[in-house]
Amino acid sequence: MKASDRIVKSIKSILKSFVPYNLGVKIRGGWQKFMGFYYRGNNVYCPYCGQSFKRMLPGGMEYKVIEERDIVGGGYRDNIVCPRCYSTDRDRLIYLYLNHKTSVFSQPIKLLHIAPEGPVRALLRKYNNIEYYTGDKFTEGYNDYYYDRDIIQMDITDIQYEDESFDAIICNHVLEHILNDRLAMSEIYRVMKPGGWAVLQVPIARSLEKGLEIETKSNKEREDLFGQFDHVRLYGLDYPKRLEQAGFKVNILNPAREQWPFDLKKYAINEEENLYVAQKL
Ligand SMILES: [Zn+2]
Repeated sequence: MKASDRIVKSIKSILKSFVPYNLGVKIRGGWQKFMGFYYRGNNVYCPYCGQSFKRMLPGGMEYKVIEERDIVGGGYRDNIVCPRCYSTDRDRLIYLYLNHKTSVFSQPIKLLHIAPEGPVRALLRKYNNIEYYTGDKFTEGYNDYYYDRDIIQMDITDIQYEDESFDAIICNHVLEHILNDRLAMSEIYRVMKPGGWAVLQVPIARSLEKGLEIETKSNKEREDLFGQFDHVRLYGLDYPKRLEQAGFKVNILNPAREQWPFDLKKYAINEEENLYVAQKL
């Protein structure tokens, strides 16, 4: 983490300690409205807030390992974060998948969203055909105004729902935080109905044939090794195989390569990022 990022982080945590939650949510909302107005334009479009902007905000953290290991979708990048609703390039990629490849927005569906991204959650909740469940494991450092208070506590390695409960599961950028990710994968498989699907995005190091897992308790070491202080491994090109070992059939999709009928530049997605969709047959 850069020194400036650390300073911003500590200012935020000091503010959070005395600004009441509801007031914090309001201040954040006001700031986002202002930013949305300030950046208004016609170059990029965010499907979550339905607004167009001259560009997205930069985002991501700068770590050496991200370049060294060729980690897709990591590192500091320009044109990433929606100024109005804070959707990221990853979130907009998910939208393109949901819109183009699923019937989430039109057919009755029971969907579990694990560690929900705010803009994605807000959009899915608007649809009456979606029976929407959401859970997260709250730990220190994850008490941001970004999170709703009605998200239920969930341990992904011990999901509290019965077998074959859900038609669809969205669980993005979670597995790299989980020590026993194989157990998490088998839990996702267990609660999924046959014929169901899950979007299971993780950072992938394209330089690694096989994922990297080194046990360490040091945040600094994890930053250096995996690109983030709270990641416990770095997935490599064998990630789909790991999902297959949990029982899934894995489809790897890429909107740019497959020429999906969207102006991808307009959505400001990372065209290098693949979608990993796991199916239970
Ligand atoms: Zn937006």
